[in-house]
Order: sequence, then C-alpha cells, then structure tokens
Amino acid sequence: MARVYNFSAGPAVLPEPVLVKAASEMLDYGGSGMSVMEMSHRSKAFAGIVEGAEGLLRKLMGIPDTYKVLFLQGGASSQFAMVPLNLIGKTGKADFVNTGAWSKKAIGQAKKYGKANVVASSEDRTFTYIPKLNKSVFDPDASYVHITTNNTIYGTHYTTLPDTGDVPLVADMSSNILGEAYDVSKLGIIYAGAQKNIGPSGLTVVIIREDLVGHAMDITPIMFDYQTHVEAASLYNTPPCYGIYIAKLVFEWLLDLGGVTEMEKINKGKAGLLYEYLDNSKMFRGTAAEEDRSIMNIPFVTGSEELDAAFIKEATANSLVTLKGHRSVGGMRASIYNAMPREGVVKLVEFMKKFEREHA
Ligand code: PMP
Repeated sequence: MARVYNFSAGPAVLPEPVLVKAASEMLDYGGSGMSVMEMSHRSKAFAGIVEGAEGLLRKLMGIPDTYKVLFLQGGASSQFAMVPLNLIGKTGKADFVNTGAWSKKAIGQAKKYGKANVVASSEDRTFTYIPKLNKSVFDPDASYVHITTNNTIYGTHYTTLPDTGDVPLVADMSSNILGEAYDVSKLGIIYAGAQKNIGPSGLTVVIIREDLVGHAMDITPIMFDYQTHVEAASLYNTPPCYGIYIAKLVFEWLLDLGGVTEMEKINKGKAGLLYEYLDNSKMFRGTAAEEDRSIMNIPFVTGSEELDAAFIKEATANSLVTLKGHRSVGGMRASIYNAMPREGVVKLVEFMKKFEREHA
C-alpha cells in the first residue's frame, strides 16, 4: 500500500526509516526474543533504551547537566496541572501569556492552585499573533512565567524567548520541540506531548532544572510530583515503554540528519515553500501574522467554506490527507513537522496551484 502525505497536527507523521526499523524489531528486539512492548521495564534491555533515549535527547537539545529529563505519561495536558502543583507554591502566583486554546487550558489548571495572572494575550485578534513582551510586564515575584512556544491551532510561534529575569520560564513546547533550536539554559521547565516531533502519543517529555524539583504542594498526588520521577529516573511506575523506544529511534534519526539546527533549516525551507505560495495566491491566504508564523503548523483559508471543503476532499483523493483545520477555527491547516519530507510540501503546493487554476 502506498503511503500518503499526512499533514495531521498530532498524532502525526513519523520518519519512515523509524517505522521500518521498529517493524524489523517487532518480534525480536536485539536478540531478546520479544517485542519492546512485551518487555519488563526493569529489564536490562529496557534500561538500555531509556538511558539511550535520554542521552540522545540531551545531545540533540544541548541539555545542561543541571537539568533532569523525565519520560512520563498523561500528555501535555497533565503538565497544565503538574507545573502549578510543583511550582506555584513558592509565592502563590504565576504569570501567563495567553496565545491560544492550549495556553488557556494551562491557565485554567493553574487557577485551581494559585493566582494565575494573564500578563499578555492575543485573543483580541483570534490568536493570530504573539504579543510583544517587555520584561516589565512580568511580576518579579511570580513563581514562574508560562508560555506556549508554538501554537498548534493558530499557527504562531515565538521567534525569541521573553526575558523574565530571575523568574523561571516554563514552556509548553509540544508542537515545536526538536523542530527549532532553543537554549535550554534559558528555561526552567520544558514539556511536550510526544505525538508531534518525538514519537507516539502516550509519552510526555519533561526537562526540568534541578532546583525546581522538590517544591510540590502538600496536596500533590505522588504521580504528579516531579521529585517522584526524578528519584526513580522515570521508572517509578511502568513508563510508556514502547513510546520511549520509538522516541529513541526518532532521536537517532534526527542526530543522523545533522541535529536540531540542521532540522530547523530544513523546516524553514519547507514552511517557506508554502508561505511563499500563500503570499502570492489569489485564492488561499495564511491566517497568522507574518512575523510570528509557525514553521510547524500552517493554517490557511480560501474565504469560502464550500471551496475549503472541496479542497480538502480533492486533496485527500490525491493522497494529501488530514488538511482540515482545527474544529475551533475551520479552514485548512498543514502540519509539517520534522518527519514531513520536503517532497510532501512540494506536492501540496503543486496541488494547491492546480486547484487554484481549476477553481478560479
Ligand atoms: N499543548 C499544545 C501546544 C498542543 O498542541 C497540545 C495537543 N495538540 C497539547 C498541549 C495537549 O497535549 P496532550 O494531548 O498531549 O495532552
């Protein structure tokens, strides 16, 4: 069966060599006579996988030794609660930048455990931009500042990280981790659901500065206390074993390709192809502000619901699938994560040109 170009926002396309390797090891991982799915998480073979995955991620992101790497379950949505449960107790308040639906969910959870101050928002223009953030907007007494580095639904991203002084910066990096390079030392916590640039859903990666561990509120369930997972090196309970294994293969693939800086160049090239066409098309237009537009998720519209629907239908028939926009905004969205080959974007742009000609 021919594979399609899958523009899903997540779970999303995975690198084909990773899927081929996983398939070849499905019945017998490394001479163990069993699949990674069947293996004890306390086994030597699995220890090799989890330690290997951590080492590769450290290398890819340049994670300093003063940071812990955790492989958890619960998705980024669990982090919306886990972050305040562990951090907000310091001063009882935290600052948030509201750049979309996921930021809002993080704010909603933090409110349960302390005071969540929204210091800037782009809701006035349907989250089509990233607010300008001067250091003075942040409360120096906040326990942390929370941002969403890439807004999956609205297709915006931060091009620079805000300066929060001594207040730890916490970033939901679910949809652009490993897709663009960041200086980890500028952040207190990075978290991400795996199902975009890392691997299958069910795995959540947390990168946390050591001094932020060990401050959970008394009410914190043991599974939501970072310290639990730091002390047990992600093996407090059964971790998402297969997800960690696939993540390790994805990390190897990315390192072979030249690492995150190289990947970012490739991603900018891919996004550039689509933006250039959108900027010149008479039928389609991108919806995000030019200076803030994402290189991972690209929403666009025709202005006509009927044309949008026809486009999605015809694209699907041409093996360009999952292009429907998020249910809250409509239109189209092309998610072009690390594993989307440049060829997929080329094919999409060619198809859009053809569609524009035929429906002019
Ligand atoms: N944050 C962002 C930026 C996301 O894109 C998503 C999911 N698409 C989430 C959080 C929620 O992630 P999860 O489904 O892993 O809880």
